[in-house]
Amino acid sequence: MLYLAIGLFLLALFFLWQSSRTRRAAGLPGGRIIYTDTRAWGKTDKALYAAGIGLTGKPDYLVEQKGKIIPVEVKTGKTPAQPYDSHIFQLASYCLLVEKTYGIRPPYGIIHYPERDFAIDYTSELENALLEILVEMRRDERRETVARSHENRTRCLKCGFQKDCKESLA
Ligand code: SF4
Repeated sequence: MLYLAIGLFLLALFFLWQSSRTRRAAGLPGGRIIYTDTRAWGKTDKALYAAGIGLTGKPDYLVEQKGKIIPVEVKTGKTPAQPYDSHIFQLASYCLLVEKTYGIRPPYGIIHYPERDFAIDYTSELENALLEILVEMRRDERRETVARSHENRTRCLKCGFQKDCKESLA
């Protein structure tokens, strides 16, 4: 249960830590700017769970399109020129969860920023990069300490582990 509770939070931290390295290795897709009709978006009412890989998560919306289910992640704040790697991996985890839950592979997912939307293709390369991260996460969960991977004080200030973290910059 503890794993379930902190799973996605750790996933987010790990994504931030690993993202640049994995992006180089996997050649992650950049986002395609698309227009989406938000009236078709259905709010997700419960978290998706993939028992086999111990992953859980709740996309903000799911959109049904031509027999496919497309996950949508809504981000606030400044709209980047291209989606952040951490957001791409978060969306990829939702694509994986949708496939495991509904048995239909989403061809892409959508990241919705305040000023534009990006479609992120859910390629086998992106899926493999995500699965690699999950394997590394499990390995690191068994370690007593994991070194800080950044010099960003603001990130530490917002971090839920700040009080207990010996490497906090805050
Ligand atoms: S306080 Fe900073 S270094 Fe520690 S876990 Fe949080 S973000 Fe990482």
